Amino acid sequence: MFYESKEGLNDTELREALAKSLEGKELKHVLILPPDYTRMYSGAGKITEIYYDLLKDRCEVDIMPALGTHEPMTEAECKAFFGSDVPFEKILVHNTTGRIIPAGKLPAEVGVVILNVTTLATLANYVKTGMPLVEKCITVDGSAIKHPKNVLCPIGTSIRDVLDFVDAERDEPGKVIFGGPMTGFPAYSLDEPIVKNTNAITVLTKKDAKEREATACIHCGRCVEACPLSLVPTAFTKALDIENVDERMARLEEYSIMLCMECGCCSFVCPANRPLIQNNRMAKNSLREYNAHRAKLK
Ligand code: SF4
Ligand code: SF4
Repeated sequence: MFYESKEGLNDTELREALAKSLEGKELKHVLILPPDYTRMYSGAGKITEIYYDLLKDRCEVDIMPALGTHEPMTEAECKAFFGSDVPFEKILVHNTTGRIIPAGKLPAEVGVVILNVTTLATLANYVKTGMPLVEKCITVDGSAIKHPKNVLCPIGTSIRDVLDFVDAERDEPGKVIFGGPMTGFPAYSLDEPIVKNTNAITVLTKKDAKEREATACIHCGRCVEACPLSLVPTAFTKALDIENVDERMARLEEYSIMLCMECGCCSFVCPANRPLIQNNRMAKNSLREYNAHRAKLK
């Protein structure tokens, strides 16, 4: 389903869009899987609340917030996140494997593979028909795009062909990003192809793509406030300046750099345009290399 709105959706439009997504579906039991309280400002709580309201008289509904490495949500957190109309007993706690992923580690490190619905559908299709992954559904959006769309395109299609198909009236691109504006990475040419892990293309106008000059940190604390994991990005930057490598790595470890999920929120809100996410990536890579090197010496 694609829903277009320049100002974002208000509550009525959101409800209409969600109701539309359920049209024509015969449902017996629905399990809603929103993120948990740590994503309080994602809007997922409101979407869950509306879906629950739309579905509660139509079928059996349960809600199971994704736990990951987090703790189950308390009743007060559930109320704050999903609103008071969603009964607490409808919110399930999952403990499928009984394993907890240590901070900064990946599911694979505790013997678990997590696949999204698209990957599973692709696997099922492959097993059934023998047809491997040959096309991707990608979102094409950004300030240079006048008519954003989700499109299904063959892997290998050039960015130029995708853009010509999606929006012939687009503005002259100043920057093209594989992925979103916060965590994506730049494409160097419009001839680069869509690959199997391309989920979105963001195209910025020349004006929006202009690099802003970084100035000194004014210690406003906005980066700390914005971090969904309550990390302190300024501390990472400071630690990176420590000359002694052992001490530098000890500080980075102490400040839990490996928990940084590189979401980019800290960089986005920084009024001084500090390259926080770039520093975090650099710090994570150097700590990874340092630990690997030490493990070899043992
Ligand atoms: S948001 Fe930017 S200016 Fe403010 S404390 Fe963080 S790094 Fe410094
Ligand atoms: S990039 Fe890392 S430090 Fe910055 S807000 Fe996201 S998780 Fe926090």
